[in-house]
Amino acid sequence: MSRFWSRLVSTLDPYVPGEQPRIQNLVKLNTNEHPYGPSPRVVAAIAQANSDDLRLYPDPTSLVLRQAIARRESLVPEQVFVGNGSDEVLAHAFQALLKQERPLLFPDITYSFYPVYCGLYQIFHRTVALDDALVIRPEDYLQGDAGGIIFPNPNAPTGRGLGLDALERIVAGNPDVVVVIDEAYVDFGGVSATPLIARYPNLLVVQTMSKSRSLAGLRVGYAMGHPDLIQGLDRVKNSFNSYPLDRLAQAGGVAAIEDEDYFQRTRGAVIQSREALSKGLCALGFDVLPSLANFVFASHPKRPAEELAAALRERGIIVRHFRHPRIANFLRITVGTDAQCGQLVAACNEILG
Ligand code: PMP
Repeated sequence: MSRFWSRLVSTLDPYVPGEQPRIQNLVKLNTNEHPYGPSPRVVAAIAQANSDDLRLYPDPTSLVLRQAIARRESLVPEQVFVGNGSDEVLAHAFQALLKQERPLLFPDITYSFYPVYCGLYQIFHRTVALDDALVIRPEDYLQGDAGGIIFPNPNAPTGRGLGLDALERIVAGNPDVVVVIDEAYVDFGGVSATPLIARYPNLLVVQTMSKSRSLAGLRVGYAMGHPDLIQGLDRVKNSFNSYPLDRLAQAGGVAAIEDEDYFQRTRGAVIQSREALSKGLCALGFDVLPSLANFVFASHPKRPAEELAAALRERGIIVRHFRHPRIANFLRITVGTDAQCGQLVAACNEILG
């Protein structure tokens, strides 16, 4: 607290990112990073962009990157917005589109940055309880009282997802408000809502290169939707930072989108490892939610999750635990390499005796 802070800053309850420890040789399964590096084409493109040209500002519109994304998704560049990680894209969406008279709706258990943006931008919101299986119930979002809707699909930290019919019910049932679908984890088995963009001007789909494209360190996220929504985001972006993506991020992002083969191979490997990890945990008596993401959400009937997380940490393995009452007994475990997943299962076996 400082007397120099604005009244707003004094009231903020900021997001706490997963730990990025400096300790060597930890098995780091706490922040949903990809276990394999980015495409070699990305590394080469960044090396090429690392030149004297860095004295020049980057393209403020990131046009080549937006064109590459649009080509892959059968859209036009006017339907694509890019930002410094999807967190920045989401922040702009909260301010440009989701701040309305009526409440913004999102699940009670979801990405914990959403209430933080509501605090920052003073957005009136209401949380909607997931059902007992920790799944989003579409009908809860069809009450006609929403000023906007946002949820991840698959949801985080549960890993549970909705199909296209359920997504369309929510989008079609709220024609007068913006529905933002945060698809940070969609490439690990979820269903993308992008095919609905052509028919629903109120739909904004947000994706990131941090997860399935192994580029959490480059900070590239994007939104896709009707050009009117994209222009709204652009107005906020151009009132905040003209150059959110530097030259390296734009070059690397284009190469990542264009290396479809590497993307398919590496996401497939994560999906396979996830299934093996889930089986290994189930064999130890864990309840593991069916996951469509690059993490699993698991609880053990005999040992509190917080205790398990501490015991894993003593063995050099870090996973994520949330204190929210409904999920306090779950661990969110990022899918690592098969070797890392094997280490985790062996450590759990030892801890559980
Ligand atoms: N959405 C969800 C649901 C997430 O879990 C994350 C990662 N913390 C993000 C968005 C943001 O990812 P990034 O800013 O790295 O694109």
